[in-house]
Amino acid sequence: MIAEEPILQSAELEIRCDECGASLVVKDSSLTARCPYCASTSLVEHALSADRPRPEFIIPFVWGMDRVRQKLRRWIGSSGLFVPSAFKAAALEELHGIYVPAWLYGAVGSADYSVSIGEDYQRVETYTTTDSKGRTVIRTRVRTYTEWRSLSGRYESWLMDLMVSASRGLVNADLESVEPFDLRAMKRYDPRLLAGWSAEGASLELDSCLAEARHEAEARLGQELSGFMPGDSYVDLSYSSEFSEETSSLVLLPVWIGVARYGSKGEQVRVLLNGQTGEVVGSVPKSWTKILLFAFGVLFALLALYSLSAGLLDGALR
Ligand SMILES: [Zn+2]
Repeated sequence: MIAEEPILQSAELEIRCDECGASLVVKDSSLTARCPYCASTSLVEHALSADRPRPEFIIPFVWGMDRVRQKLRRWIGSSGLFVPSAFKAAALEELHGIYVPAWLYGAVGSADYSVSIGEDYQRVETYTTTDSKGRTVIRTRVRTYTEWRSLSGRYESWLMDLMVSASRGLVNADLESVEPFDLRAMKRYDPRLLAGWSAEGASLELDSCLAEARHEAEARLGQELSGFMPGDSYVDLSYSSEFSEETSSLVLLPVWIGVARYGSKGEQVRVLLNGQTGEVVGSVPKSWTKILLFAFGVLFALLALYSLSAGLLDGALR
């Protein structure tokens, strides 16, 4: 009999962050002193939980450490005009590639809807008016009318590949910011693919993830439904939706997380990079001093231009 393959290999440890609740699987050699998500130092080594859901799929890392460093350096260097000067020399710290767990959700969505559909039609009309010489004349014009009819029915759609985070460290909004991932590169989960990387176990409850996924499915169904409406326009669309044949599979996604530290006070910006596509996400700090100086500069230039042209005009008039 073949034993169920463990998610972890023997040389690996699970540590849990007391601050954000993420639970990471790391090799002891790469065990860090800080949580890669929230930089907290309260990490506790943890017994492996046996009932943890097992990943079904994995999207492997394409971007390795060196390439990520170069890309982030370029991103920091080209971060724009209004960034504090110190930011361009920011130090990249705590850079980790982590396999982040997410649920891939699919379902058949059905919506029973009712709506008023408008169809436009044109009619040529004759009307009486007075012309420029005050004579009464008869003219024609084209007018558009809308005819309304009520419509009700059932709309059904396969909603596929909705992704919600199962990680406490990388919340759903953060995951959405590094999406999309190319799902064609998705592979069956194999623990050997984790070699050299950290991975987080699914640390959020499945129920709350599913609620979030249905919420996203609801929004997508609504969008599809409005695109599906016939006619030239519609009003009073109302519908009730339900989801059946739901599927959810746990997938591990490649994400780089790091901190850009800058300035004398050591301010920091969290940076995320999609480990498959290399897309960088981070909110670049703004320097209000630079923005104000720029605004004053523009104002000054306009004033100078104005007084110059006024002066020339003055000179021309003399
Ligand atoms: Zn943490």
